[in-house]
Amino acid sequence: KAEGRGTWRFFAPEMDARMQARRKLELDLRRALAEGDLKLLYQPQIDTASGRIIGFEALLRWHDEERGVVAPAEFVPVAEETGLIIPIGDWVLRTACREAATWPAEVTVAVNVSAVQFRNETLVETVKQALAQAGLPGRRLEVEVTEGVMLQDTAATLAILHRLRALGVRISMDDFGTGYSSLSYLRSFPFDKIKIDQSFIRDLGQGGDARAIVRAIAGLSGSLGMRTSAEGVETPAQYAELQAEGCAEVQGFLFGRPVPSEVAREMLRLPAARAGAPGAQDAA
Ligand code: C2E
Ligand code: MG
Ligand code: MG
Ligand code: MG
Repeated sequence: KAEGRGTWRFFAPEMDARMQARRKLELDLRRALAEGDLKLLYQPQIDTASGRIIGFEALLRWHDEERGVVAPAEFVPVAEETGLIIPIGDWVLRTACREAATWPAEVTVAVNVSAVQFRNETLVETVKQALAQAGLPGRRLEVEVTEGVMLQDTAATLAILHRLRALGVRISMDDFGTGYSSLSYLRSFPFDKIKIDQSFIRDLGQGGDARAIVRAIAGLSGSLGMRTSAEGVETPAQYAELQAEGCAEVQGFLFGRPVPSEVAREMLRLPAARAGAPGAQDAA
């Protein structure tokens, strides 16, 4: 590195340490991808009308020797900044489709796709290949996007969403209610489902105003022809209010924690794949 940088380092040692830690995280993450230390867990999604599992959301985990199991909040931002999210995202899509193809029921698999992946031309091609290689019909894949995706180049994003839908893939708006321009883009973007952010669900069942917000979102989403889902459902009281407000799908620790694909497969073999039996599955 250039000589002059040494003086800067003298003034900001903590900053330097943080940048070194980030650089190490990036290198370790790159190696994790190459060496197979990334894993997917799957969390059940329940249809409130039937109580049945209708899908699983794929959630990324990194098994690191030093760090233990690392949650995505700790490494996805770095992966996005460094571009590593492109190969990682490819791996996630291929793995989720391949594993879902081994499940003994026609349920969907939902995959979180970063806004950075939407800026890459290869996304649609990657999805197409992942489905083809797995032999998974497009209708069994759901792509979850966050509001950040809507804030970048609208025409390009719309084109990608329409091409994905042409493959039969469904699109969900994740973490709804936490971003900025929530309402305007709901008219122009082709979402099949809105997932109410768990920050609203957390306050349900306690007689506060969270229920009014859930009711408003469910009404809006229903009148625009979209399904409403709620994430982070932890208590029967929350579930009862969500059912009363017309929420079509729920997801949360009350119904099951994220589990490996083999466990998801076993859950689907249980009689009628019934959820609503809190604590039935627990695998951290
Ligand atoms: P998300 O897509 O909104 O996923 C829901 C998060 O809530 C997951 O955290 C899940 O484990 C957690 N969760 C589920 N039910 C409950 C509950 O009842 N209570 C509480 N407190 N939490 C619950 P996780 O797995 O740590 O993932 C965090 C975020 O990281 C995800 O939020 C998603 O934005 C991102 N992420 C996860 N996997 C991927 C991936 O493969 N690619 C990308 N780009 N992002 C991912
Ligand atoms: Mg999600
Ligand atoms: Mg979410
Ligand atoms: Mg979230």
